[in-house]
Amino acid sequence: MDLRLKNKTAIVTGGSAGIGLAIACFLAEEGVEVTIPGRDLKKITKAISNFSGILKGVEADLGTVEGAQKLIEAVAHTDILVNNLGIYESKNFVDISDADWFRYFETNLLGGIRLARHYFPRMLKQNWGRLIFISSEAGAETHPDMIHYGVTKTGQLAVSRGLAELTKGTDVTVNTVLPGPTRSEANDVFVQSFATTPNATFEQAEKEFFAKQRPTSLLQRMATEREVASLVAYLCSPLAVNTNGAAVRCEGGILRAVL
Ligand code: NAP
Repeated sequence: MDLRLKNKTAIVTGGSAGIGLAIACFLAEEGVEVTIPGRDLKKITKAISNFSGILKGVEADLGTVEGAQKLIEAVAHTDILVNNLGIYESKNFVDISDADWFRYFETNLLGGIRLARHYFPRMLKQNWGRLIFISSEAGAETHPDMIHYGVTKTGQLAVSRGLAELTKGTDVTVNTVLPGPTRSEANDVFVQSFATTPNATFEQAEKEFFAKQRPTSLLQRMATEREVASLVAYLCSPLAVNTNGAAVRCEGGILRAVL
C-alpha cells in the first residue's frame, strides 16, 4: 500500500535504536526525509548505514533544554514529529528518588512537549501535520515496579489528547501509540533480568516474563519493532486523517481498560 508520504519530512526522537529506528526506516522507505536526533552522531550514522532512503542524524540530547534548542536550530520545521524517546527501568517505588522522578519527567514527557511547542503550531499553520507520542501499555495500566515510568506514559496521553483538541477543522492529527513489550536492545536486557534460572536463553526468559509478568498478553511474545513501526507509519499517512486524538493500543494484554 502506498502511504502517500513521499517528500514529507519527519523527526523521530530516540531513533538510533529500537522502535524509533524501525519507525524512521519505515518512513524513509515510504519516501519521507527523516531526521534522527540523538546523543551520539556516530551511533546514529552507524544505525542508519544499512538502510536506504533519506535519513540523517542531528547530535542533540533531547532530555535537556539545550538539546531541544539544538534540534530546533538544525531543523526549523517538520511535517511529522514522532516523540518516541523514552527511558525505562524496573525500580521499587521507595527507591525512586526525586532525581529519578525529574529525569523521567524531563526525558519522557517534557522532552516531547518542548518539541511539540515548537513544531505543532507550524503544522497547524500549514494545515497538515502528524504528531505522534509513543507511550506504552504502562500508560494505561501502571506496572507497580515502574510507577515513575507509568506516570510519564499516562502523561503523554493527556498532552496528546489536549493537543488533538486544538486541531479542530484542520488536517493535523495528534495520536498516541501504546506498544506492549517489544523487542529492542534495552528491552531484551530488561526481560532477561526477570529470568529466575541462571543462564536462561532469551526464549526461556521471554516465556517466563509473559507467564509471570504479563499473563494477560494475547500475543505471549515480544512484538517486533517493525510491527509497531507499521502502525505508526499508517498513522503518519494522509490515509489516517480520520484517526485523531486516539490512544491506539498495540496488542499487549491490558488488564483494566481505562481509556
Ligand atoms: P531503546 O532502544 O531503549 O532506546 C532508543 C534510544 O533512546 C536510544 O538509542 C538512545 O538514543 C535513546 N536513549 C536511551 N537512553 C537514553 C537516555 N538516558 N537519555 C537520552 N536518550 C536515551 O528504546 P525502545 O525500547 O525502542 O523504546 C522506544 C519507546 O517505546 C520509548 O518511549 C518506550 O517507553 C516505548 N515503549 C517501548 C516498549 C518496549 O518493549 N521496547 C514497550 C512500550 C513502549 P541515543 O543514544 O541516540 O541518544
